[in-house]
Amino acid sequence: MKQYTIIGLGRFGFAAGQELIRLGHYVIGIDHREKLVAKAADIFTLAAVSDATSEEALRELDVQNSDTVLVAIGENLEASILCVLTLKQLGVENIWVKASSKAHHIILSKLGVSRVIHPEEEIGVRVAQALNYPMVNQYMFLGHNLYVVEIEIKKCCEGLSILEMLGKAQQYVSVLLLKRQTKTFNHVDLQFTLNYHDSLVLCGPIETLRTLAPRLA
Ligand code: ADP
Repeated sequence: MKQYTIIGLGRFGFAAGQELIRLGHYVIGIDHREKLVAKAADIFTLAAVSDATSEEALRELDVQNSDTVLVAIGENLEASILCVLTLKQLGVENIWVKASSKAHHIILSKLGVSRVIHPEEEIGVRVAQALNYPMVNQYMFLGHNLYVVEIEIKKCCEGLSILEMLGKAQQYVSVLLLKRQTKTFNHVDLQFTLNYHDSLVLCGPIETLRTLAPRLA
C-alpha cells in the first residue's frame, strides 16, 4: 500500500484518486472547493479543504510523506506552478502534474517534475486507436513500434490452436497470457486449443498485429 496525494479534485483528479483507492492505496485529496472535498470525503482516505499553494497547509496534511503527489489543478497555471514549487520546497520527489498547455508543459519540465500528463491528448490518441481496432479490448504502447494487446477470440477461431490462429504472425508475436473465464494461463503452449470468448494477450509490432484483424473482426 502506498500513500498518494491528489491536489485538485476536478473530474481528472477525482477519477485518479478513486481508482487508487480501488487499487488499495492510501489517498489524500485536497481542493479549495468545499463541495468537491465533501464528495471525496466519502471515498478517499482523507479529504481536506486547503490552499495547495500554502507550504504550511500541505505540511500539516503530511503531503511530504506521500510516495507520489499528483497535481491535478486544471487551467490555473499560476496555482499549479506555485503548488509544484511548494511541493519541491517540502522535499517531495515524485511529482506528477497535469498540464493544460504547451507553455505549462515547458515550465513544468524546467522545474524537473517526474511526469507531465496531457489527459486530453493522451485520451484522444487512445480513442483514435480504439476506433481503428475495435476488436482490441486493451492495449499498451511499449515504444519501438511494439504493442501489447488483449484480443477476444471470435466464433470463427473456436477450435483452432493458437499457432493456427496466429498463422505467419507467430514468428513476430509473443503470447503473454491466455484468459478463459476466471482462469489465467501464462507460459501458454502454441498448440493450446482456443475457445470462443477466450482472451489472448499478445505482444508484437503493430504491422504484424494488424494482419490478425480479419480473424478478429
Ligand atoms: P478537471 O478538468 O479535472 O475537472 P478542473 O480545472 O475543474 O479540472 O479542476 C481543478 C481543481 O483544482 C478544481 O477543483 C479547483 O478547485 C482546484 N484548485 C485550483 N487551484 C487550487 C488551489 N490553489 N488549491 C487547491 N485546489 C485548487
